[in-house]
Amino acid sequence: MSYAMYFVSDKPDRMTRLHQLHKNDCSRLPSPEQLTCVGYYGSHNEAISNAKEIYANVEGCSYCLSHQVESVSRVKEI
Ligand SMILES: [Zn+2]
Repeated sequence: MSYAMYFVSDKPDRMTRLHQLHKNDCSRLPSPEQLTCVGYYGSHNEAISNAKEIYANVEGCSYCLSHQVESVSRVKEI
């Protein structure tokens, strides 16, 4: 397991209303002024649990964190 710096978006996703957690090298990272640094962690779950101390509703980015984060309840799409 490699360590990485994680960031959480300050703006919730328009569809899911969740704040997305990213790794620092994600190509989908929002601009720096819309990010809060979560810290340096060795696992996605550790990072997401700490991100939830910042925002209650957090999900892992589907691009950089894929399926490795715990699933969170999703808003149903109509
Ligand atoms: Zn990402």
